[in-house]
Amino acid sequence: MESDKNNIARLKEEADISTVVDYLGIEVHKKGSAYFILCPSPQHDDTRPTNCYFKEGWNNVYCRACGKSTNAVDLIMYTKGCSYGEAADILWELEGKPSWYYVRRRRRKKKEFSLSKQEAQLIGVHLPGTVLCPSNLSPVKPDRPMRSYPGYIGDGYLTCRVEHCNWHDFATEKQLRAIAKNKAREKRESLRHAGIIAHRLGNPVLEQVFSDMCGECDSILSR
Ligand SMILES: [Zn+2]
Repeated sequence: MESDKNNIARLKEEADISTVVDYLGIEVHKKGSAYFILCPSPQHDDTRPTNCYFKEGWNNVYCRACGKSTNAVDLIMYTKGCSYGEAADILWELEGKPSWYYVRRRRRKKKEFSLSKQEAQLIGVHLPGTVLCPSNLSPVKPDRPMRSYPGYIGDGYLTCRVEHCNWHDFATEKQLRAIAKNKAREKRESLRHAGIIAHRLGNPVLEQVFSDMCGECDSILSR
């Protein structure tokens, strides 16, 4: 099956570094069959273009002084000061936009789904912040502070420690989005009914409260 992930490794592999160097406007000094440039590595404060070079057909530049080669994506990133993803997109364009490379731009538009603690509470989704992890099994009942959880499980006393966690540990973003939207849809429906009842009872304050909460559900549903 074709992966829909951006194949950045292949982009780097198939890069023509002299095209990239030209595009970036980097000054080149030709010496024999080699083209010398200032070392692009951020760790190398290079002042003379005598160590870092590339040759016709290479896909990266190599620096004799620091012993490092810099690939096309890194070279773009270091020179332009852009992100890794942006650099990969530029390289993709320089290589003539090959179709095997998934267009990152289109995919990245969607923001990561988020849910605040209050919103989770409103729609009845429990997002655990801590979890108990077994840490020790002891034949004697451990004398431990409150945060651990000693329990006898047949072979001995189990001690647990509290580990911090978040929803990423239990669900994918897609799963959380689906759960939250289902819950928000249900909640909005019941709040709408509650609002109708408040209206019939002639309680505008309560009606407004329910209406505001409906709005919060709508906001979750629009994400
Ligand atoms: Zn170097």
